[in-house]
Amino acid sequence: MTKFSDLNLNTKVLKAIDEAGYESPTPIQAGAIPPALEGRDVLGIAQTGTGKTASFTLPMLSLLARGRARARMPRSLVLCPTRELAAQVAENFDTYSKHLKLTKALLIGGVSFKEQDKLIDKGVDVLIATPGRLLDHFERGKLLLTGVQIMVVDEADRMLDMGFIPDIERIFSLTPFTRQTLFFSATMAPEIERITNTFLSAPARIEVARQATASETIEQGVVMFKASRRDREGSEKRRVLRDLIAQEGDACTNAIIFCNRKTDVDICAKSLKKYGLDAAPIHGDLDQSQRTRTLDAFRNGELRILVASDVAARGLDVPSVSHVFNFDVPGHAEDYVHRIGRTGRAGRDGKAFTICTPRDEKAFDAVEKLIQKEIPRVEIEGKAPRKRSKAEEQPKVEEKLDAQPEAKPQVEAKTEEAPKSEKPASKSRGRSRNRSSDRNDRNDRGGRDNNKVVGMGDHMPSFIALSFDERRAG
Ligand code: AMP
Repeated sequence: MTKFSDLNLNTKVLKAIDEAGYESPTPIQAGAIPPALEGRDVLGIAQTGTGKTASFTLPMLSLLARGRARARMPRSLVLCPTRELAAQVAENFDTYSKHLKLTKALLIGGVSFKEQDKLIDKGVDVLIATPGRLLDHFERGKLLLTGVQIMVVDEADRMLDMGFIPDIERIFSLTPFTRQTLFFSATMAPEIERITNTFLSAPARIEVARQATASETIEQGVVMFKASRRDREGSEKRRVLRDLIAQEGDACTNAIIFCNRKTDVDICAKSLKKYGLDAAPIHGDLDQSQRTRTLDAFRNGELRILVASDVAARGLDVPSVSHVFNFDVPGHAEDYVHRIGRTGRAGRDGKAFTICTPRDEKAFDAVEKLIQKEIPRVEIEGKAPRKRSKAEEQPKVEEKLDAQPEAKPQVEAKTEEAPKSEKPASKSRGRSRNRSSDRNDRNDRGGRDNNKVVGMGDHMPSFIALSFDERRAG
């Protein structure tokens, strides 16, 4: 087996690796580090969890150990699709460069330009950035990319999903033709293939096994779920989720719940919290300081459940997650592999459960095809508490999301707003009607069906019930 000491890395980097407790390089590291150290371009086809971050960080640090940065001209550049991933790569740099005198700057949205400018002005060896923010700095004339000797593109497939490919192409064209490129992607979509053919020169191609084949320690299960009524799907699905969590009991020490839509991330987190579970959301629309706080709490074990979107969770390194729950079947089968790869890391046991509605069955088939395995169907025991505690008995209006359907159907009809894309197309509704009129329809119906005046609850002032003649007479 290859040892780190066989790889020609800088001795100070080797010391930091040793202190990090790594015994031997992972396959992507053993494959990518030697050609990277020789100055070759590298095309790494690997997913998060395989050790890919160190596979470019370690050779970069070794190559940069000699030499000094000049003002506004970073010597190397790492592009990441999300702020979280960029922050995580920055942490990796800190870990492995602790015995070296190298400087780095992190250019991500949500952090003030002024502070970032100050660092760049001083000169940095490693610049870690999201593409948009990097171009913002460049356009303000604060940054020159002509000194970039090594450029890394991390999670290129996610860049593609997020529409960053034109930015990446522009950044490539702003860096010197002679730069070394280390390019990483979990999959090779045709568009990614095109970029690598255009911008990489005779790269060493290292492909490591899909995580699905490596993740035998993850126990998987799927709940085939059909809502009793279309408009109850959201709340019933959340109950299934709570049942699953309850069924796992104390074995579920910490979990990530994945939703396909940001709106569902928020709704799910709020709903779980309401039922007494320790949960918080993370997605791209939340401000950076909140995202960082939530993630830190989750990493430190202060937060039990993280409800996330794929993009926000991409590349997050949370070492020991006991459970992953897919509230939705992901649209891309590869994302399933990414998601469940959050558990069962480094040989630990992990469990991954997915909730599949009839609408998701096609996407679910694609998942089973990809992982070449049938995922066992699991039954729900319905262990989650059905009744609220006293404190929860009178939820605020915005907390009525999960009103018990049996107890208060009309409340649910009013507040259980299905995500826009899921809204059933009622035959009686004209196609051209907009969403807000659909919503009003539902509220109105809730009102009429129950003979209530919308907005007044059960306490209708008696004079309103009088006829006009009676009122005048009074
Ligand atoms: P990554 O795929 O870069 O997100 O890394 C996944 C996790 O593996 C991180 O927690 C790393 O700290 C850890 N890791 C990276 N390389 C090694 C190694 N050679 N031995 C043990 N753990 C490692």
